[in-house]
Amino acid sequence: MFKTEWYGKTLIQIGQFEPSTKICNHCGYPNSNLKLHHREWICPDCGSIHDRDVNAAVNIRDFALDKQNLSSTVGTTGFKASLRKPQKWIQ
Ligand SMILES: [Zn+2]
Repeated sequence: MFKTEWYGKTLIQIGQFEPSTKICNHCGYPNSNLKLHHREWICPDCGSIHDRDVNAAVNIRDFALDKQNLSSTVGTTGFKASLRKPQKWIQ
């Protein structure tokens, strides 16, 4: 039994190669030019300024919520973003 079951929580795993750092969490733009040393980047599509790690964290949260169809309950922008995410991201 996972510890998450003891506490009434759900464990969701995402693939190791999901491009969470490279997807704009505001509009879903896939920034294929993002390199490892880029700590901050500006979305060329919507102009949002992203901290690499924060953007990745938001995308992972939104991915998990999309998996559970909960995104509308928290009012996240991730639901819109998922419309433009690569097909393998949506599954
Ligand atoms: Zn954007």
